[in-house]
Formats: sequence, structure tokens, C-alpha cells
Amino acid sequence: MGKRASKLSSSEIKDLISCTYFNKKELQHWYKDFLRECPNGALKQEEFEAIYQQFFPHGSPKKFASYVFNIFDTNKDGHISFKEFICALSITSRGTLDEKLDWAFSLYDVDSDGFITRTEMIEIIDAIYNMVGNLMDLPNDENTPEKRANKIFQQMDMNNDDMLSKDEFREGSKSDPWIVRALTIDTGPQMTS
Ligand code: CA
Ligand code: CA
Repeated sequence: MGKRASKLSSSEIKDLISCTYFNKKELQHWYKDFLRECPNGALKQEEFEAIYQQFFPHGSPKKFASYVFNIFDTNKDGHISFKEFICALSITSRGTLDEKLDWAFSLYDVDSDGFITRTEMIEIIDAIYNMVGNLMDLPNDENTPEKRANKIFQQMDMNNDDMLSKDEFREGSKSDPWIVRALTIDTGPQMTS
């Protein structure tokens, strides 16, 4: 990969406008920021983790960042291209509630089989707890990933099969916004501009 053009071409812009909620000016602006962070135009996992580390200097965001990286890297080539980056950012910052919930669901559904198991839920919550470190003051019944996951399953697993379907997750998240907030805007990577 050589040096990238410093601006998006008009056909790239057209393509990105059709699949994001950003306008031309915003896209060029984000592209400039993106290239500053990764001049060859693709973000590697270590670089992605480093961005999270800047935002959570007192925690260990590496594990959470690796889960998020996998969701951003839609074609699974081990890099986040600008298009992958901006599409994810569009959903997490400006998407509809259902789009955000779908995105969050895919993060919790680690093996992508269409259901969130208790183990998967514990994995992600553990990663979130590690990331925020001691920033959060947690009530007694939520102070371990297991307790938090049990509480969420009690609320969301309507048919008690110990798995959350997308519908259960969607409905449940609407009454417990923490689960989505924790992985979208509040903790998502925000590049400096
Ligand atoms: Ca699963
Ligand atoms: Ca269920």
C-alpha cells in the first residue's frame, strides 16, 4: 500500500454518502483525520487498540477493542478501511435505535450464530469492565460480569432458553439502555479533529 490521496474522489464520496448518514464535508473531514492516524489508509488491530487506550488510560481496553475491531472489519481482512470505519461510525453515532441495537447485538453475539449465550454476554461485559477500570461505581448486584449478565438475562430472556434472540435483545435493550450505551457513543472511539 502506497501513500493515499489526501482527499476522497467524487465516486468514493458518492458511494459513502449512499451508505452513511454523513455529508460530503463531514466525510472529507473524517477522511483527513483517519489518514492522520493511519497514513496508509487502513487501521491495524494494534493501532485500533492504541486509540482505545488513549480514551481509557486507567483501564485495559485491549480485549474490548479487539471485539469491536472484528465488528468494524466487515470483510475480515485484518484491517479497518476508511469505508469500514465510517460505516460503523455512522451507525454508532447517527444510526436509528434499531441499527444501533443490531450493531450491538453483533458485538455480543461473538460467534455470530444469531443468539447471545450467557457466556458471550459475560465475555463482553468482562471486557467492558476491564476497559473502564475503576471509573464505575457499581451496585452490589452488578459488580461482577457474571452478576451483571445474570441480571440482564433475567430481564431479557423472555422464553428462558438461556439465550437471547435478536428480538429479545432489541426489546430488552429498549428498557435497559446501558447495554447499548456502553458500546456505542460513550465508549466508541472518537478521533480527535
Ligand atoms: Ca452466539
Ligand atoms: Ca431466549
